[in-house]
Amino acid sequence: MNLEGRCACGAITYQLTGQPLIVNACHCRDCQRLTGSAFAVNLWMERKAVEAHGPEPKTFRLAGGSGRPHDVFYCGECGTYLWSRYHGAPGDFVFVRAGTLDNPGAVKPDVHIFTRTKVPWLELPEGVPSFKEFYRLAEVWSDEALARIGRSRRT
Ligand SMILES: [Zn+2]
Ligand SMILES: [Zn+2]
Repeated sequence: MNLEGRCACGAITYQLTGQPLIVNACHCRDCQRLTGSAFAVNLWMERKAVEAHGPEPKTFRLAGGSGRPHDVFYCGECGTYLWSRYHGAPGDFVFVRAGTLDNPGAVKPDVHIFTRTKVPWLELPEGVPSFKEFYRLAEVWSDEALARIGRSRRT
């Protein structure tokens, strides 16, 4: 399954050539502001598995919840926020916004994070782990995903 997506104007298209390590639904204030929505759905991807076409995305830097920089990548034509790079995350990863997929229903959150700022009207599904802030990867991730992040750390 190669998922594809694009910005709102279509100048930038992309293809995901691998599976996400995990899908985080993030309820932090930055994600709420950046998306203009109640939360963001982020696909944690190896950067080499995100093949972008079209003009280079533009970027700006936020402080990030971890205190490490958070780079935001967006289309310079239409401003659609496509993915992020969190310097607090180990290895070479980007976090792709699931709302930019051609089929956003192809993925669903494995875990909800930063629920301390979740909007009160939203009820989280039972059986999906949720955390007030972040979590220890080993508590949530599959063995396969943990092995992949281990490989990325060494390179
Ligand atoms: Zn665009
Ligand atoms: Zn967030």
